[in-house]
Amino acid sequence: MLSHFARALRLHCPHCGGGPIFTSWSRLLPACPVCGLGLERDQGYWVGAYFFNLMAMEVAFVVWFVGFLLATWPDPPWGLFQAITILLMVVVPFVFFPFSKTLFLAFDLLVRPPEAGDFAAPREPARRLPRSSPRDAS
Ligand SMILES: [Zn+2]
Repeated sequence: MLSHFARALRLHCPHCGGGPIFTSWSRLLPACPVCGLGLERDQGYWVGAYFFNLMAMEVAFVVWFVGFLLATWPDPPWGLFQAITILLMVVVPFVFFPFSKTLFLAFDLLVRPPEAGDFAAPREPARRLPRSSPRDAS
């Protein structure tokens, strides 16, 4: 169970640990290149990831708000608080974006284990195996 989340935190496939599953910071492959698990499991699937990202932003805000007040009370500099809060609310969703997707996928795989229909044919051979082309067989 924890291994799913450990793999997700490394931005690898939560199911098999294969990867990379991102082509850039924000672009996810349609399926894991190693196990073939479809990474968008339903239509509108990433609403759950947006929810995870929103929760991360709210946790970051609460930690920042409480920490700032504890550190500066009784005379908090509100201008500084506003400026850093705006910066934080822009940076956190961007930094957390790929993690929200992999962590939501890890959570979803625990709640709803993958079935045979969730797997596409792998597009790349596993890196440890010797390369063989399917064209050689014909
Ligand atoms: Zn995989």
